[in-house]
Amino acid sequence: MATQSQVYVGHAAIAATHQLPLDTYLGLFDNIFNSEDFIHWRSDGRSWQLHYIGGPGSGKTTLSAIAAQYLRDMNGSRNVGVATIFIQKDVAFRDQTFIQAFLESLYHQLSYERDDGGLATGAFLSYKQALDVKPARSMAHRLKLLRKAVYPLIMSLQRAFLVVDGIDRCHQSVTDQLEAELSRLQHYGLSIMTTSRFPQYRSGQAMYCDAPDHDLHSPPDVPVTVFWGCKWCWASSKYTICQQCKENGDLCNNCLDGGLLFEPSERLEIDFAVSDRSMRSFVSWDLEREHGDINLKSANDRKPPLSALGRSLRDKPNATEELIEKIVERASGNITIAKLDLDSLANVQSVEAAISSFAGDRLSNNILALFDDVLERIKHLTEHERHITLASILSAVHEDHGARFQDIEKWIRESRLESDAQGHARLTVEEILRAARGFLGLSNCKDQLIYPYHEMLKLYADEHYDEALFWEHAHMRFGRMKRSETVDPSAPGRFGSNAPRQMKAWGGSRGAIRGALKSGDANIPAWSAERTVAWQEGVRNALVQDLQVKRRPQGVPKDIRNLRRQPTMW
Ligand SMILES: [Zn+2]
Ligand SMILES: [Zn+2]
Repeated sequence: MATQSQVYVGHAAIAATHQLPLDTYLGLFDNIFNSEDFIHWRSDGRSWQLHYIGGPGSGKTTLSAIAAQYLRDMNGSRNVGVATIFIQKDVAFRDQTFIQAFLESLYHQLSYERDDGGLATGAFLSYKQALDVKPARSMAHRLKLLRKAVYPLIMSLQRAFLVVDGIDRCHQSVTDQLEAELSRLQHYGLSIMTTSRFPQYRSGQAMYCDAPDHDLHSPPDVPVTVFWGCKWCWASSKYTICQQCKENGDLCNNCLDGGLLFEPSERLEIDFAVSDRSMRSFVSWDLEREHGDINLKSANDRKPPLSALGRSLRDKPNATEELIEKIVERASGNITIAKLDLDSLANVQSVEAAISSFAGDRLSNNILALFDDVLERIKHLTEHERHITLASILSAVHEDHGARFQDIEKWIRESRLESDAQGHARLTVEEILRAARGFLGLSNCKDQLIYPYHEMLKLYADEHYDEALFWEHAHMRFGRMKRSETVDPSAPGRFGSNAPRQMKAWGGSRGAIRGALKSGDANIPAWSAERTVAWQEGVRNALVQDLQVKRRPQGVPKDIRNLRRQPTMW
């Protein structure tokens, strides 16, 4: 029987628990827990990893904490272990102790108050002894002993789950090591869910169902996420059928006796967001929690006496509806942006004032702070690294609906500084996404469309809310744009003669911009509701078109040259 008091190397970046704030709306991610992907992932006998991708403010840590609780509640009476690892700080280049602490934490959590029959406990004892031996044993040896303790523990459980939050905080070198470790754990039966700010496992190849009757229950041009292949002919045919068709009894069409179905992908990577429906419930819940019972019938155990805004909301249900829709639309699936908008209503007296505070859809100070915070972290990077981060973001927002990876890559290289000796090297799509810190998304099609993760980011970058982005923009060369058309930072005046109007008018400083925002200056760059809808539609259409162009005609063998080890979906 293991206890929590055992030896624990630990790591500053790792926490085994995350205390959800008391005012967390637990129904936020119900759409995810009710999704096919999640249901199949948590079902017995499934063995792929589930990776959720969400940019800054999307609620990854909250999702991880609620998911772990959900898994515990679901499996309450069974011999099931649920471990969580929250990565809360950046993990440095080749930090060996991270993996050690990771496995240790996993061992402690899965063995806590559980009798594993002695095998795991014995192995862990050997590991403990190895820690005290002088001279110290190698890290490889320690990890080997730890694995010997963890694997039998996983196998002794009916089911074992691990939720890892924030794998994007690991340096690429550590990510590679962690990936190998997770694959081994998965092989021994651990069901793994992770979250990350940016995608890392896009194959660039969407998968479609080959079963002849697929069109009877699902639209033919929509790629499938959970799918099966045929083990006998996978190498040559890549014959694919979706979960629904498999449940309907479909088998491999190429092989006699229907072949042998298996799940070829080791991972499923999904972009997640709060659904509009859940967001609406959350906004109603939060309004009643802050402003009292305003007839929204939210499931709330705390409704304070009506505030001034609360009375106004209760008296004007139509305006209240308009306000809720406005917040849902601005958030566009991002929980933090919704929360920041709701917080900004603390001292507002009437529903009309609340609605007009969002007129023009300007970026409020706290939303600016959300984006500022991400860019703040790049300050300690080298000039070369900073250039890639800033240029990636600017390139992706340059076109209205994102841009192709190969164009973005070219723009970044061509706009490097003269002094940047490393700037000639070609970049991979992974390097660009990692550099962009979660600000950019990626479509899973051959052209690899890279786009801003939230429409407000486009406004933030386009309208030069950030000085570093502004200066980087001066160096960018998009397509045929001539050098003379860009801003020369050395030109007279702080921002050069071609500096954007708002920048010059506000003196370019954050304080001045914030001041102008606060005072409701009419020149503030606006993002109208129509523009938001048009933008969302545009991205969707661009993606759909791209996918449709790539749609392989029925019956023709797939082009498998670009198929990597993990065919995954966006
Ligand atoms: Zn199908
Ligand atoms: Zn087959």
